[in-house]
Amino acid sequence: MNKEYEVIIIGGGPAGLTAGLYTSRARLNSLLIEKGLVGGQIVNAERVDNYPGFPEGISGFELGQLMHQQATKYGLKTIIAEATGIELGEEQKEIKTTEGNFIAKAVIIASGSERRKLGIPGEEKFTGKGVSYCATCDAAFFREVPVAVVGGGDAAITEALHLAKFASKVIVIHRRDQLRASRIIQEKAFAEPKIQFLLDSIVDEIEGEDVVKRIKLRQMKTGEKSALNVAGIFISIGLKPNTDYLKGILPLDPAGHIITNDKMETEIPGIFAAGDIRQNSARQAITAAGDGATAAIYAQKFLS
Ligand code: NAP
Repeated sequence: MNKEYEVIIIGGGPAGLTAGLYTSRARLNSLLIEKGLVGGQIVNAERVDNYPGFPEGISGFELGQLMHQQATKYGLKTIIAEATGIELGEEQKEIKTTEGNFIAKAVIIASGSERRKLGIPGEEKFTGKGVSYCATCDAAFFREVPVAVVGGGDAAITEALHLAKFASKVIVIHRRDQLRASRIIQEKAFAEPKIQFLLDSIVDEIEGEDVVKRIKLRQMKTGEKSALNVAGIFISIGLKPNTDYLKGILPLDPAGHIITNDKMETEIPGIFAAGDIRQNSARQAITAAGDGATAAIYAQKFLS
């Protein structure tokens, strides 16, 4: 595989795939580095209803595949590898990956984010044995049994709605007395008889033997402790930016996001960032795609 490119894009979610579409159509020799499935976080969405152009909605997996197909048609190359670092040269940047090193004149970082963990006893031990971070992937394993969902955002409530198709009961546990999720998603959940809400509550511990059996809860206002028997617990408490490999290379905000200007430029000339990884990103597939297009256009200007 060629080792030198005009543009290297790290991350194959909507931001990276759109950047790749634009750089390839600009006839820039472009490589996309993706560590898993193309599509990024949207791959986990059973149905995406707010991406313009799909009035009936589209599965996140299919949307990712279509974006990749479109960019590949214009010449984007893809390698499945994990980026582990960037070395800055005078004219070029060297991207270190698990599949060897690649050189580029411009780099667009779009490596997105991953699910945040609760960090409580039992979480790691029972991951894959009742603890899950993806209802679309795992809901079907929980037919006619009670499950819990932790979180109050769009993702948690969407996951609860999906789980309600399988589980006997879905208990949403949220640390405040009001959900963060958008109104339209909340209304759907309130109308679903299988979904119950435990507000002002947090999970202190996950217990079981081979698999999850119960969770220990704490009421935030009264401090009262209780236990709940569930066969599964879906943790959906937001996202953490994938920027560990950039520490010491690029300035990051305290939460680990990359700081850019409105041209998606970082402090380092020739390095751009797009999508969820950016500070103040709206964290939607459509805004990530917009960031990717902007980054590609300014990368093209940088190169010329
Ligand atoms: P989010 O909006 O950041 O929500 C995270 C939720 O987890 C919040 O309710 C938060 O509580 C809770 N939380 C955070 N840390 C916690 C902890 N340690 N213990 C207990 N609870 C904790 O994240 P998200 O729901 O993953 O969504 C990420 C982005 O994707 C958002 O911009 C969202 O709009 C978007 N998204 C959109 C859709 C859609 O259909 N439009 C679907 C999925 C995701 P607080 O509310 O108290 O902070």
